[in-house]
Amino acid sequence: MQPIKFWIILNLELTRMEGKLIDSFGRQISYLRLAVTDRCNLRCQYCMPAHGIDIVDRKELLTFKEMYRITRVLSELGVNKVRLTGGEPFVRKGFVDFLEMLDFNDLLEEINITTNGVLISKHLEKIEQLKVKSINLSLDSLRKDKFAEITRRDVFDDVYETLEILEKSNINLKLNIVVQSGINTDEIIDFVELTKHKNIAVRFIEEMPFNGVGQKDVKEVWNYTKILSEIESKFDIEKLVDGKSSTSRNFKVDTYKGTFGIIPAFTRTICGDCNRIRITATGMFKNCLFDDGVFNVRDFMRDGASNDDLKKLFLSIVVKKPKNGFIAEKERNSKVSESMSTIGG
Ligand code: SAM
Ligand code: SF4
Repeated sequence: MQPIKFWIILNLELTRMEGKLIDSFGRQISYLRLAVTDRCNLRCQYCMPAHGIDIVDRKELLTFKEMYRITRVLSELGVNKVRLTGGEPFVRKGFVDFLEMLDFNDLLEEINITTNGVLISKHLEKIEQLKVKSINLSLDSLRKDKFAEITRRDVFDDVYETLEILEKSNINLKLNIVVQSGINTDEIIDFVELTKHKNIAVRFIEEMPFNGVGQKDVKEVWNYTKILSEIESKFDIEKLVDGKSSTSRNFKVDTYKGTFGIIPAFTRTICGDCNRIRITATGMFKNCLFDDGVFNVRDFMRDGASNDDLKKLFLSIVVKKPKNGFIAEKERNSKVSESMSTIGG
């Protein structure tokens, strides 16, 4: 290419990227995971101890107006996708009104939700009218007794009913299964089998030590490779093309209606094209799931920051996004042990 042409293209590209959230490795941030609460109606064993976690005082939670403001400012910097999570989003009063509020943000292309599905069914009609593209439903066992053992609550029927309603809705349904050594690994095949007649995306997640206690001692480590070989031992599978920045590596069994994927959340082989940032329920900005928080946006706003101040802040902290989850973990002040419910999974 002629030098002059190269120079023109480079400058056009730089102008286009101005005011966008780009880290020092050239990764552009376009996806926000926002925890709307730290509260939850279940007590999943891999997420928190039986007695739950120390929840914060209500005043410490971001208000929905503050969440709207953060999301709007981030969307003006190129974030076009938001995932609402928690805690359990549907336990927070006013959550569905917040969804409607977010729907007004014309810069957002997609709103996604991660939920345990217990409280959602009565809101589905309204949600279907919004730009909610997909719902990730957590369901770690297809057996009622095992489900109760994992979640420490007897709500399997409600969650399974949600699955069936969502499957028929116009919202994409993804099932999240945390693969827990010695607990639900005997159901991996059953979950893949579920995709035979159901048009859903089943996703197996490597268990991480975000459980309020820390790293567990396990007999067998069920990582990406082991989960995949378990599935390959039973099915002929086809690799699918993964979307850019996809968190899962995706596959399908030929002739089956749905797909399945594996999320290497702990082995962290997906960091290379990460496009995600997180805001916790108390307003802590996280560049990576494994960092221990970069900056409290809630306090900054409550101290009177303008939207321009917020923009400058976000542009400056995203640059410091660590290369991968291992570096983020190394730079922490404390060991990974906080509950996923406080971070927003
Ligand atoms: N309450 C909602 C739910 O369960 O779907 C949303 C919050 S939950 C923290 C978000 C996701 O994180 C869920 O899919 C859950 O299975 C996953 N998760 C929680 N703890 C985890 C852990 N220790 N390792 C891997 N995934 C975890
Ligand atoms: Fe609650 Fe979700 Fe954590 Fe289970 S995984 S305890 S449903 S926040």
